Formats: sequence, structure tokens, C-alpha cells
Amino acid sequence: MSRTTVAVIGAGLMGSGIAATFVSRGFEVRIYDVRREAMEKAKHIVSRVLELLSGTTTGDSGVGGGALRLAESMREAVAGADFVFESIVEDLEEKRRLFEKLGRLTHSEVVLASNTSVIKPEDLARGLEAADRLLVVHWMNPPFVIPLVEVAATRWTRSDVLSRTVELLRRIGKTVILAPDTPGLIVNRFNAALIREALKLYAEFGASPETVDLAWTRHLGITLAVSGVFGNMDFIGLDTVLAAARHMGVREEDREALSVISRLVEEGRLGVKSGQGFYSYDDADFISTYLERAKKIWGVMKCLEEQR
Ligand code: NAD
Repeated sequence: MSRTTVAVIGAGLMGSGIAATFVSRGFEVRIYDVRREAMEKAKHIVSRVLELLSGTTTGDSGVGGGALRLAESMREAVAGADFVFESIVEDLEEKRRLFEKLGRLTHSEVVLASNTSVIKPEDLARGLEAADRLLVVHWMNPPFVIPLVEVAATRWTRSDVLSRTVELLRRIGKTVILAPDTPGLIVNRFNAALIREALKLYAEFGASPETVDLAWTRHLGITLAVSGVFGNMDFIGLDTVLAAARHMGVREEDREALSVISRLVEEGRLGVKSGQGFYSYDDADFISTYLERAKKIWGVMKCLEEQR
């Protein structure tokens, strides 16, 4: 399907999944890990994932046709590769050492991508010879199922490196979001906030894990899947969101961010009910927008019920 060659360094949970994603799309993938047994396991995982995907897709997804090769060394893994996806242990110094080595082993057109979850991209790239072709490509777990991939360039990343990476990811059917150069990018900043609140509810207020999880599986996970956070605020009504935030007590560090909503409310932009909020609802009347969303929530609920 494609002549692009991909190398994956680190054959753990995510490296295996990333390799499976590319193999399922017809790519030749070479994988390397310091532990031989991790590579053997990755090989097994990839073949199981291919079985799974061929059983659940419609047949036009390009499943199969690719190949996974286990490399004896890092040099062998990256020889001739166009893209190198790093997915080793989450350790800044370990990753920087790896990218230093990858910089020496690969030529200037090879894209070096890190799957770091929380390291600030700039901290990873600072001072490295290959900083101009290094960026973060953060995959979600499991990568062969979840459509989203976050991409974060640093101030040193070349624009052609960014555009080639986005093009490759779109080619394999991914939805790419360009994230700011910040620790945790977008997804893990949300995760951090959720985990903090969940633990607080559990430890400080005695809410059981089951209770907290039901709030997500029976409401928030469904509603937010349909609307997203900004879309959901528009539906609640920004005046209501503002009142709720004030009632719960605004932390000093959140004051500036919250002033965004105050300004919108002052301008009369209250969300769906006024036709304007973070989004514009000019084309539809309130009731049809409201019912359209209800229908989508209903659809997601039915899908989830089928999976229970
Ligand atoms: P993992 O522990 O399953 O796998 C890491 C692998 O890297 C191991 O097999 C280890 O032997 C190998 N390794 C360590 N140092 C190496 C080196 N110098 N060269 C080659 N191989 C080396 O970890 P994981 O969950 O797959 O996470 C890998 C990366 O992906 C981390 O940066 C993590 O933050 C990120 N990530 C994880 C998830 C997740 O849900 N687990 C999701 C997104 C991103």
C-alpha cells in the first residue's frame, strides 16, 4: 500500500499498538526494544490485533498487507526508515539519550517522534542536534482503535517535519490535533484534572469508585462524547456555567481563564439559547439544536448498551 517505512523504538504496551496500527494499514514496520522478549510479545500482539481488526472492520480499511520485522539493533531498526516513533519508558533523560543516538543514526529528512505523555516537548528537544526534526506524536491507548493523535511541535521543529507527520497520520485515518508545547499536551491535562477530582471525591468525601465511575459511564462520558467541553458549556448556558463556578469558589489561578466566560456573558453570548457562545448556532433554532443533540446522546447510549 505504501513505500513509507516506519520504525518503532520500544516494544511495550504502546509500541506494540503503534506498530499494529501501521502494519494494519499496509506499512512495513521495524521494531526494536532493549528486551528481546518485549519484541517477541509485540509480534504476538500485532498478529492478534490484525485478527481483531479484520473481524470488526468492513473490509475497506486496508487491514493487513503490512509487515512487522524485529530488529537486532537500533541501527538496523532505523536504517532506511522515514519515520521513527519512540515509545520507551517515560523518563526525560532516557528519552533524550535515545534521541541523541537517533540523531546520529538517521539522516536529516527522517522524522523523530516521541510518544511522551507528560514531558514538555521543548524539554525533550532542547540542545539536541536533531531538534529541528523532533516532535511529539502522542498516541492514545489502544492506538489502533482510538482515532485521535496529538501532535506537538517545538519552536525548533521544521515546518516540513510537522506537515509530513500530519499527512502520514491522516493517511492512516487518524484525527490529528495540534497541541501546544506544554506538559501533558491536551489529553493528559484533562486526565490530570479528572484524576485529581476523582481522588478528592474518594479520599476526602468518601465517594466510592463505583459511584464516581457511574457519573462518567452514565452521563459525563456520553454527553461530552457528543458535545466536547466547549460545546457542552454552550448547552448548559454560559451564564449558568459562570454562576456555578462562582458558587463553587474560584481558585486564584483559575480567575483569568474564567474571565473568558465573564466577557462572553457580558456580550450576551450565552451559548445555544442565545445563538452564540463559544460556537455559533445562527442556522438553527434552539429546539432543533437541542433535539439534535438529544438524538446523538441517545445514539451513543444505545451503542454503549450493546457493548455491556
Ligand atoms: P512499557 O513499559 O509497556 O514499554 C516501554 C518499553 O520500552 C519496554 O519494553 C522497555 O524494555 C523499552 N525500553 C526502555 N528503554 C529503552 C531504550 N533505551 N531503547 C529501546 N527500548 C527501551 O510502556 P508504555 O506504556 O508502552 O509507554 C511507553 C511510552 O508511551 C511512555 O512514554 C508513555 O508515557 C507513553 N504513553 C503511554 C500510554 C499508556 O496508556 N500506557 C498512552 C500514551 C502514551
